[in-house]
Amino acid sequence: MFIVSIVCPICSGRDNREVERHHEYILRHCRTCDVVYADPMKTSESFYSADYDYMLRDRLIMDPVRWDFRWDIGEFLRTPPRRDGNLLDIGCGTGFFVKRAREMGFRGYGIEFNERSVQRGKDFFALDTLYPLDIDGLTRKFPELKFQVVTLFQVLEHVENPRDLFSAIGRIITEDAVVVVALPLRGRWPDTSGKTGDYPPHHLTRWSLKALENFLDRHGFFIRRHKFENFPLQNMPALLYPYLLERARFLTMKGSRTDDSLRDVSEEQAITILTKRKVKMQIATAASFPLWLFLKALGARGPHLYVEACLKP
Ligand SMILES: [Zn+2]
Repeated sequence: MFIVSIVCPICSGRDNREVERHHEYILRHCRTCDVVYADPMKTSESFYSADYDYMLRDRLIMDPVRWDFRWDIGEFLRTPPRRDGNLLDIGCGTGFFVKRAREMGFRGYGIEFNERSVQRGKDFFALDTLYPLDIDGLTRKFPELKFQVVTLFQVLEHVENPRDLFSAIGRIITEDAVVVVALPLRGRWPDTSGKTGDYPPHHLTRWSLKALENFLDRHGFFIRRHKFENFPLQNMPALLYPYLLERARFLTMKGSRTDDSLRDVSEEQAITILTKRKVKMQIATAASFPLWLFLKALGARGPHLYVEACLKP
């Protein structure tokens, strides 16, 4: 009998154990570098085009629910690694963060595979530096362009080949560059991502600080600063009212994350749907305030990790 050894897509290690199965995927924990990865490392375009949340977000410049929760972008704006130079936001969506970065003094650029988001961002924010390209495409367009800051907000866990991505990043940064990576932390508690959130084909990798440190180290980086998110008040409804929330989800989403009737909602309708969700969430959040104070006092940790990485000297 053959022993099938699946090679880790992050470190090429062969020592792994199966964590769980999800549809056609096996999730494996690499004992060498500590990442959990999907086998196969294969995303699905149809997942994103059929997913309720992505469908709605695609119609909006700013998702009224989600942007309030963007702790990672807030962390950058509160404590920027520097305040000028060329900045590239990878997976920039409609370019909301690129716009803020420009206001701070950066020459901000964004790349994003969703052409529709790029076009809407260009129109709405009058940003002429968003491109529906990957890094190599950007390099062909601007062969001389180098970046002092590169940001990946909630991107790495979606990527089919993180190593290729970081090799490409290595080719476009200056020696003193800072690469900011923010992602969901593995084993976050409570897991508010629902049944699909942290699973492939949505998230292909799950990271701990150690796994991310190992990965960055292999690409010549060290972590200069890291921060765990504090336990956010917004997570309380998901902790307290899982059944209530599922019910609210059922009501507001017409029972499914992949409802085809939503494919053609207008931007106005999308805002209405998301605003209703936001109000429900706010009521539940206010009701859970006392318990949140208690958990915070106990030192409960939030669901995201933020790191600043620099090239090793
Ligand atoms: Zn590994």
